[in-house]
Amino acid sequence: MTTQVQTLGATRTNERLGAVVLAAFFGLGLVFMAGFAPAQALHNAAHDFRHTQNFPCH
Ligand SMILES: [Zn+2]
Repeated sequence: MTTQVQTLGATRTNERLGAVVLAAFFGLGLVFMAGFAPAQALHNAAHDFRHTQNFPCH
């Protein structure tokens, strides 16, 4: 019983950590990849996103 609870807790923590890492990876990837994308619309979208996140821009 106790082992089962600890296992569930550890699994939940690992899933949360994985979600945070995944979100950070996609977030940074979106900002940098969209920032260098040739498409003007994509660039503007990334630009707006940077401003909403107070990302140093210009
Ligand atoms: Zn800007």
